[in-house]
Amino acid sequence: MYETIIVGAGIAGLTASIYAARKRMNFLCICKQFGGQILESGEILNYPGIVKTNGFEFMETLRKQAEFNKIPIQEGEEVGRIEKRKGGFLVISDRGEYHTKSVILATGARARKLNVPGESRLANRGVSYCAICDGPLFSGKDVAIIGGGSSALEAADYLMQIARKIYIVNIGSSFTAHEYLIDLITSQEAVRVIPEANTTAILGEQSVEAIEYEQYGEKKRLPVQGVFVEIGRSPNTEFLQGFLELDNHNHIIIDCHTHTSVKGVYAAGDCSSIHEYQYVIAAGQGCTALLKVAKYLQEI
Ligand SMILES: Cc1cc2nc3c(=O)[nH]c(=O)nc-3n(C[C@H](O)[C@H](O)[C@H](O)COP(=O)(O)OP(=O)(O)OC[C@H]3O[C@@H](n4cnc5c(N)ncnc54)[C@H](O)[C@@H]3O)c2cc1C
Repeated sequence: MYETIIVGAGIAGLTASIYAARKRMNFLCICKQFGGQILESGEILNYPGIVKTNGFEFMETLRKQAEFNKIPIQEGEEVGRIEKRKGGFLVISDRGEYHTKSVILATGARARKLNVPGESRLANRGVSYCAICDGPLFSGKDVAIIGGGSSALEAADYLMQIARKIYIVNIGSSFTAHEYLIDLITSQEAVRVIPEANTTAILGEQSVEAIEYEQYGEKKRLPVQGVFVEIGRSPNTEFLQGFLELDNHNHIIIDCHTHTSVKGVYAAGDCSSIHEYQYVIAAGQGCTALLKVAKYLQEI
């Protein structure tokens, strides 16, 4: 019987794990992929104590910190169900079953899909959800970024070094991002913003050839070889349906102490209802969750 099982090894799960290790807890961290969304991040300029880093460097540092703290991590393992049992919980993964007194859920989020014709068929054949991962494949090509938030503009920032022409296809009339980023991107010659444009299809036979969108009541076609979908994120919580309370967007409902609707189960980071999609917030919640677990273990 573990004292706690931490599901996820993004910044939230890793922070909880560092604190658990330092408290000498009997615990396990289970994750599909070490680092989570850190792997997708480009430049990171807002983590206190680090002036400037990038996703790769940050992940390497966290890997060293995990090793230094001897965190027991099982990577490449997916948790598919959690059941309440006498004295705790049963965590069921694709590799085994584990008894634990408490659980910290730090399963993060993933890119949201456009759900338009051609999107799934052309995925990995020109359609991408991660500019950092797939950007180099579009060297000298014309690409469309669908979205109007920070992730769309960060993708443009990254692709500027690689692509020939970048179209930012925004359903809204303005961007929701830091002013400096908006100014930086929109002042580039290689970038063209297409506002109030609703992407309706991705076209192509073997690979992406164009997108179709509606703007001011007209249907238009934009020839591109790559499409980066940057329209927000969905929490990885499907396996928790029916086990605990989720909000309308499937985030795990937590209070400010990271308690979920099930006693003994805590949630932290982008999968929680108090998410801001920021590293420091996810890390802070991971720390809070572990400290609350420690208190809970003393009380039961
Ligand atoms: C392109 C991009 C750039 C960003 N840039 C910044 C930035 O500059 N500054 C900033 O503050 N934030 C940035 N963010 C946001 C930041 O990356 C996230 O807020 C943060 O990574 C969330 O961490 P997390 O631990 O909650 O989740 P994640 O990083 O999503 O980690 C989730 C973990 O859970 C695992 N997992 C999921 N489901 C299961 C399951 N069923 N079983 C087992 N394991 C599972 C995953 O494999 C992973 O290990 C950026 C995000 C993106 C996508």
